[in-house]
Amino acid sequence: MENIDPDIPQPVEADATNPVSADAVPPVTKENEPRVVLTDADAKDGLAKCARCGATEIALNVATGMLRCGFCRFEWTADNAMEAFNLNGDISGLTGIVVGSGSSDIVPTTEEVLTFKCSACGAEVVIDTNHSTQARCHWCRNTLSMNQQVDNGAVPDMILPFSVEKSTAVERIAKFVGKRKFFAHPTFRAEFNAENVMGVYLPYMVVDINAHARLSGQGEHQTRSYTVKVGDKDQTRYDADLYDVVREFDMHVNDLTVESSSDRIDQNTSQNSNNIINTIMPFDVENSVRYDSNYLAGFTSERRDSNLDQLSPIAHTQAEDVARHRVNSTLTFYDRGVRWSEEEVDVRGQRWVSAYLPVWLYSYQQRKSNGKTFLHYVAVNARTGETMGSVPLHQSKLLLVSGIVQLVGTVVGLVLVAVGI
Ligand SMILES: [Zn+2]
Ligand SMILES: [Zn+2]
Repeated sequence: MENIDPDIPQPVEADATNPVSADAVPPVTKENEPRVVLTDADAKDGLAKCARCGATEIALNVATGMLRCGFCRFEWTADNAMEAFNLNGDISGLTGIVVGSGSSDIVPTTEEVLTFKCSACGAEVVIDTNHSTQARCHWCRNTLSMNQQVDNGAVPDMILPFSVEKSTAVERIAKFVGKRKFFAHPTFRAEFNAENVMGVYLPYMVVDINAHARLSGQGEHQTRSYTVKVGDKDQTRYDADLYDVVREFDMHVNDLTVESSSDRIDQNTSQNSNNIINTIMPFDVENSVRYDSNYLAGFTSERRDSNLDQLSPIAHTQAEDVARHRVNSTLTFYDRGVRWSEEEVDVRGQRWVSAYLPVWLYSYQQRKSNGKTFLHYVAVNARTGETMGSVPLHQSKLLLVSGIVQLVGTVVGLVLVAVGI
């Protein structure tokens, strides 16, 4: 029997009580033509000098989160990126596609090696953007930085500086491995040295989505349950009413993070462990600052190599998950569940910004007896300290222990039988 859905579709967000009607949405000028926010408008390449003493020896002071001059200890910070580029604006008014200039499509032919003229001594210095966006002049030893975006993904729109110090990360990793030491492979145990941890900025896209979602399907509400005898066994049966269920609402997804390194999007679980980085999320991306390559000094970084085209479907799938999750609290009446037959998430606006997010990594390349290698690693979120990882296991020890557990189980079973339970 079909019934009327007893719940009035409820908006799931406070700011969704006045749904935007279709004609209130301003038309997108050209179809899917992204509007670009210039995030490197006043960025300068070359010598970035300390404002107090003019030195170029500049690095992040993790303890304060500020850039520090290596000579006079003067400290300062880059502007908050969200404020500088007005990226935390109202998501409900977002239409079409907005992208930071550092998130534009990567041009494959773009040079990975850039030549700079040192503005201190005039020498020509080469920066390999594949590995770094900084280099030292070999004549005058000044540090040259590249802050302007080239179309190869080496310079993102913003960067979230490290705030967990290396010593803390080393402790976390040692503790994580320590707990698993008993089962760890002896070679791993022998070679383990938490001091080998490296700080790396990983490339992500941070996405805001303004969407309208409509889910429809059928839900069951139980009216009665009873037992029947089938042969000599009791079976529980139930009666339920069937309802058509529809939920329709506006949704505003803020700061969804999507990884933009194709290596980690296409996880190959035969060569490395599951995506551990996802388990140390989230990052407080709202505290990101404008990209300044001085934040990279002493750390390594990976380049973004995926474009919006590849990443949009991933973000939209995540938005659908968010939609499904958000309506759950409005479905308590359907105690036997709801099966959605249609799920539409109409993305009305999206805003994409590329970011570097900080991670401490301890990696271990396991050489297996078949000659293949497997990459294990322990990762620490360098903002929250959240730690997760994988260690190579000592199979024979694992088998021995599970054998003992089984043996103990068998013995207990025998004892129970013996005393007649
Ligand atoms: Zn200085
Ligand atoms: Zn020079």
